[in-house]
Amino acid sequence: MRKVEIEALREHNLDLFDSMSPASIIETISASERIPTESELNELFDALNEQFFAGGLPKARVEWSSRMKHAGKCMSMQRIIRLGESYHRYYPEDVVDTLKHEMIHLMIPSHGADFKKEARRIGASFHAKNYPGMLRGMKYLYTCPGCGAMFPSMKRYRERSCGKCSKGRYDPRFKLKFVRRLDEKL
Ligand SMILES: [Zn+2]
Ligand SMILES: [Zn+2]
Repeated sequence: MRKVEIEALREHNLDLFDSMSPASIIETISASERIPTESELNELFDALNEQFFAGGLPKARVEWSSRMKHAGKCMSMQRIIRLGESYHRYYPEDVVDTLKHEMIHLMIPSHGADFKKEARRIGASFHAKNYPGMLRGMKYLYTCPGCGAMFPSMKRYRERSCGKCSKGRYDPRFKLKFVRRLDEKL
């Protein structure tokens, strides 16, 4: 499709949204092959709020982040949800799912039992997919307490120390410290 046509479609979609039910807005965006514009993301927020939370969530602003490498992030105090643009260029079909996940964080910051219950109720997933590129297949991020180097890993490390600092054998002083999972929606 040419750029002009896509732009025309975008405007068309936006006008259509006014007369569409929350369910059809969610469906239209889920079925779209391109990632939504920011204004569409905010329409989607309202539609999901209606559909799954009876309109009860506080209004939040949804933004794209071009720098963020993971799927999403919710700053519940500021009422801002950021979605990772590069992640969703690989997985445009995940936009709705990620936004649902982050919307739960407006009420529940952690990933405990309450979060899981809500995620199940509205059909939001827990973990993001591994996405291609630099961190392909990497699930865990570790750091060295000595030199501060970051070590992405596919597996969980138990007793492993930094190769640069420990000179060829395990050294507990430089035991790699777990930072976070890389495949989370956050
Ligand atoms: Zn080190
Ligand atoms: Zn999360």
